[in-house]
Amino acid sequence: MPSRAGGQHPPGASADAAAGHLAALVPALRFATRDGFAALPRLSGFTELLRGAVARARAAGAPPSPALEGLAAEGGAFDALPLAEKQRALMRVAGHLSSLIPVPSELRELASRGRVMKLPSPPAGERDRVRGTAATPSPQPSPSSRERESDTPRPSPSSRERGMDAPGEAVTPSERARRRAALRQPLAQLPRAHPAPRALLEERGHVTVEQALSFWPKAYQDRTRTRLISELRPGESGIAVATVRGSKVARMKSGKPLLKVEVADASGRLDLVFFNPPPWRLKQFAVGESLLVSGKVTEGFGGRRQMSQPEVEKLTPGDSANFGRVVPVYAGPADYQHPALRKLMKRLCDELAPLAVDDLPPAIRARRELLGIGDALREAHFPSEGTDPAQAADRSTPAFRRLVFEELFFLQLALALRRRGVRRASGIAFEANPGRLAEVTALLPFALTGAQRRSLQEIAHDMARPEPMHRLLQGDVGSGKTAVAFAAMMLAVRSGYQAALMVPTEILAEQHARTMGRWLEGSGIELALVGAQSRGKAQREARAAVASGRARLAVGTHALLEGEVGLDRLGLAVVDEQHRFGVLQRAKLIGKGTRPDVLVMTATPIPRTLALAFYGDLDQSKIDELPPGRTPVETKVFGDSQRRKAYEVARRELDAGRQVYVVYPLVAESEKTDLADATSGAAELAGVFAGHAVGLLHGQMKGEEKDAVMGRFRDGAIAVLVATTVIEVGVDVPNASVMIVEHAERFGLSQLHQLRGRVGRGAAKSYCLLLAHFKRTSDEARERLRVMEATQDGFEIARADLRLRGPGELLGTRQSGQKLFEIADLYRDEAILEEARAEAFALVEADPALRGPEHAAAAEALRERWADRLSLAQIG
Ligand code: ADP
Ligand code: MG
Repeated sequence: MPSRAGGQHPPGASADAAAGHLAALVPALRFATRDGFAALPRLSGFTELLRGAVARARAAGAPPSPALEGLAAEGGAFDALPLAEKQRALMRVAGHLSSLIPVPSELRELASRGRVMKLPSPPAGERDRVRGTAATPSPQPSPSSRERESDTPRPSPSSRERGMDAPGEAVTPSERARRRAALRQPLAQLPRAHPAPRALLEERGHVTVEQALSFWPKAYQDRTRTRLISELRPGESGIAVATVRGSKVARMKSGKPLLKVEVADASGRLDLVFFNPPPWRLKQFAVGESLLVSGKVTEGFGGRRQMSQPEVEKLTPGDSANFGRVVPVYAGPADYQHPALRKLMKRLCDELAPLAVDDLPPAIRARRELLGIGDALREAHFPSEGTDPAQAADRSTPAFRRLVFEELFFLQLALALRRRGVRRASGIAFEANPGRLAEVTALLPFALTGAQRRSLQEIAHDMARPEPMHRLLQGDVGSGKTAVAFAAMMLAVRSGYQAALMVPTEILAEQHARTMGRWLEGSGIELALVGAQSRGKAQREARAAVASGRARLAVGTHALLEGEVGLDRLGLAVVDEQHRFGVLQRAKLIGKGTRPDVLVMTATPIPRTLALAFYGDLDQSKIDELPPGRTPVETKVFGDSQRRKAYEVARRELDAGRQVYVVYPLVAESEKTDLADATSGAAELAGVFAGHAVGLLHGQMKGEEKDAVMGRFRDGAIAVLVATTVIEVGVDVPNASVMIVEHAERFGLSQLHQLRGRVGRGAAKSYCLLLAHFKRTSDEARERLRVMEATQDGFEIARADLRLRGPGELLGTRQSGQKLFEIADLYRDEAILEEARAEAFALVEADPALRGPEHAAAAEALRERWADRLSLAQIG
């Protein structure tokens, strides 16, 4: 027996390197051998992996040894072996490997089992498991009939094998191009493809083979487990195979038709009931025909079993796309259309999916135990026997893990490259030493909280370095981001540059300008508020002050982006509430200076997954502590009928001299109704709160009008501010202690949290009163309101929001209608995201230009397949 690794290798780095190459085999080996070789059928590309590992180990100086020779020998034709042989081969591989390098204990055990015991036979024929009733189609169609789903000639076995198994590095560029072209061909070009399912796919925008393969099933049905009719239990869902005995159309009381079909198997009879059937349904059932029926079983008259609105499919013996397996169920088509659609998909999976180029570098696939792309596609549509349909529908099978990984990996790769690009450009090194920091924070009327100090130090550290800063500052509503941003802006100013703060609304811009203006009093530094041009002379002056460089600080909305607003000396760009601005807007502001530092602020606390997914190219700072003197806000949900109670709370507060917000949602995108609601609300509330001044603020008012109303509220002249959502962000009036939200069920969680953040800013106890119209409230909306009552923790709320609504809503990209991810779910796939990110960043670290041949497929994929989608997704 060969001695252990240490004794065989020459000491030193080359031995380590050789061992490292061999260790790359361990994950694949564990994957394929665990749970009694359960995943072995899904192992692909092992030949390549094995050959590559041995070759690299040799190149790294591994000395010849029987074990290494043995490993090399197994690399002959592993992928082509039958399952049983593969098991034996893997045991031998484990044996060789364990005598070369330290391996996990289960592999050592496997190796010793392989040596001393008679080898177990392969898992008992997956084929001959019981399939149900005698009427089930022949359980295992002969290979020829199984393969012949269509008359199209199959690709030659060699190209099929190359497609399945070759990791990216082994495929030449021209071969890759050929295969990508095969996947990009329109379905319309496929010879003899059934036109009906093709039309179904095309209608849904899946026009090419590749697009068709990404028409993911919405569910799966395990058709290896059909029941006898006598075994169907009322109250449960079941699948049975039965023969049509007859059918008749009756009338319901409403006069609508009702189709009753009687079917039977050897064990009993079953009625299928269809309400108001479409014309094709009436013609669907021929006496004597065999059907697969599935649905919920109920008990009809006289104890007869019945299925209402079941799914039915005509049985075709030998049809392996539709029977005797776990089959996919696609969204949309009527049940009679399913068989043909499945056949087409099966054909794509069998003939074309194997040609798909594996864009993931082979080393990453091995390390993360990911299926090859061809296998993943096939398994996603036609899972192997034994797959739990629920798990597949939840997309947590190994096939989907691979697909999700790929999607997240390319997003992270794009972010990693972008981040590296930013890092390498040379930017401005500001003077940001501790002395300067003390100087600028001295301008603030309060001492920074610990979290603010920490964030500011991180920012100052970046600003002092010559590479451009790209940093995200996260902090809950009211956590004091503005003060930190101000200090950073002053660092830029003190180094002789301009600094700009871009915010999403005029009200906010005006408020920030006011606050910062106060902090600047006596410093001699000028700040300009850049607003809409329509504001005439004042605006012209403000813009001139910025352009001439006299105003060192500029605060404004996207008006800052206008061509004639010159910011030549821009050294620091701060973008507040970033997700409301598109990437392009951010880029435009940045482009006004010469590689300025960039600080992005978001008040919507975003869970780590989202932060990684969308701001993954930014360094992160977080303010996780509120300034002192905040009081918790009591949150309560009221039904419409209880609104008097809510008003009582508000009136009590008003009588105590405090102020109240009442917010109306934007109704159905229509500013008019929106306004009508708020206007009539204001009129009504003037009565309810008689004796207290009620003011109205809405989106159609001119800038000056809004300012005037806000000003009167800030000064206390208005006690009750009725507003549409324009006040959502950033308004700071510490004396306001009540936030009433009308139609709270229509707001998203993050929005509600923002609104609630408007109160609780002063010393008084504050209230957030959510008025909901429960009749029209969905379960999800109720859940949102419940979360609001239960917690005030912004991060917890954001996570709940992500779970309830998905990332599009959370990031405010809903209106553009884009789907951020095709299959990844940031809530479900958090762990995969972390893995994909680690791999993508490590890859860019190791091979920044993606020049290595093993990365060529990934580089191509990024360019050809992902670039467009990623820029759409508003990254960063
Ligand atoms: P954010 O922008 O993060 O929502 P703001 O910057 O508007 O929060 O701060 C909210 C309020 O807290 C403001 O009135 C601000 O002046 C005040 N504030 C900020 N930092 C502190 C601090 N360290 N100590 C006391 N008050 C602070
Ligand atoms: Mg703010």
